[in-house]
Amino acid sequence: MDFDWTEDDIAYRAALRRFLRDALGADWQGYKGLNPAAYKAAAGEFCRKMAEHGYLTQSWPKEYGGGDAPPWRAAILSEEIGSPHGEPRGSQYMNVNWIGPAIMQFGSPDQKAFFLPRISAGDITFSQGFSEPDAGSDLASLRTRAVRDGNDYVVNGEKIWTSHTAIAEWLFLLVRTDPDEKRSKGITVLLVPMDTPGLKVNQVLGFVGESAFSNPVFTDMRVPVANRLGPENGGWAVVRYALAFERIGVAHYRHAENQLNGLAREANARGLTDDPAVLAKLGEAWEAVEAARLLYFRVVDLRAQGSPPTADSNIARVAGTRAYQVVAEAADLILGEYSLGGSGRSRFNLTAGITSGATEIQLDQIATRHLNLPRPAVGARD
Ligand SMILES: Cc1cc2nc3c(=O)[nH]c(=O)nc-3n(C[C@H](O)[C@H](O)[C@H](O)COP(=O)(O)OP(=O)(O)OC[C@H]3O[C@@H](n4cnc5c(N)ncnc54)[C@H](O)[C@@H]3O)c2cc1C
Repeated sequence: MDFDWTEDDIAYRAALRRFLRDALGADWQGYKGLNPAAYKAAAGEFCRKMAEHGYLTQSWPKEYGGGDAPPWRAAILSEEIGSPHGEPRGSQYMNVNWIGPAIMQFGSPDQKAFFLPRISAGDITFSQGFSEPDAGSDLASLRTRAVRDGNDYVVNGEKIWTSHTAIAEWLFLLVRTDPDEKRSKGITVLLVPMDTPGLKVNQVLGFVGESAFSNPVFTDMRVPVANRLGPENGGWAVVRYALAFERIGVAHYRHAENQLNGLAREANARGLTDDPAVLAKLGEAWEAVEAARLLYFRVVDLRAQGSPPTADSNIARVAGTRAYQVVAEAADLILGEYSLGGSGRSRFNLTAGITSGATEIQLDQIATRHLNLPRPAVGARD
């Protein structure tokens, strides 16, 4: 087995680093402090530069504006774009990593023609309306109701913890179209413009940032049937497809590694490197980062061989979450209470075991799919 990068991959990474330095500036400090409009403009401008250089949708098929790049190129891009100061693409990573691919797989010709060129040019942004107050891990119990009325669906209900609504033009929305099918069989996906009458977005003040989350409420909101993605009551297949991409779309280990490097410098500066507890925790964090990297690479390798999604993505995801959590523990030891503020971002690390499907649910899926243990009695996200 050859663990080395090819010469082409090394040259690609070097060119990508040059591009990122030129596009963002060598001392990029993230989009902190920008209001939503300025943040959207800055992330949009960066995405358009990525699109011009062929990076934004490099992994998409050429027919949809992509570059047919192999999965290892996507892995290198995820690593290089990982920054201690945040995601320079803003929420655009979701469009590129899973919303676009879901539209390619399940979209009508009109939907493909409308959305895919706009996503691949960096001109459009989605938010993701999955979770509800009583449907998070058990997503299949969602209750937001859509009733067919002529050529429209009439939607009533609410979502919670929805990220990126302040900058999104579209909502990727899960609704219940068949109330008699209590679980996954009665669910449908709608693509909804954020300015649709009947859609009200309430902000949720949260621990990770004041406008990080929202609570979209739908009151008799009319959505054309033409905006349905995939068949009526066939939304679960779309969700499963999308979530399989979402799990390892971001190189969590690289974000954790960047934080860890900063913490090691901080430990040196504070004279803490003689403290065995600090050294042991830094070593444990490094081990967790490397374990996650190898498990992510395993999934990339499976993809490169054309394998469909397997439980390996869940395993990699759990390892990425563990890396975040051990790095947060190291931050706690080195920075004390300051670890939760400033550029440490370890507040975000605490959410890693919840977002995109809680760790316990990932572990359930590993138990049932990998170890062939009986399914748990309570429903899970997938
Ligand atoms: C940073 C962040 C961003 C997010 N962005 C979005 C977004 O853009 N759109 C969106 O739709 N949602 C978003 N979410 C919501 C996220 O998907 C949910 O928080 C997650 O699915 C868990 O659901 P819940 O919060 O309702 O917790 P619950 O499902 O109530 O779970 C609470 C606890 O119980 C445990 N638990 C639940 N069921 C089981 C079980 N069967 N077995 C073992 N343990 C179990 C969980 O692991 C967890 O620890 C975001 C969350 C975070 C933290």
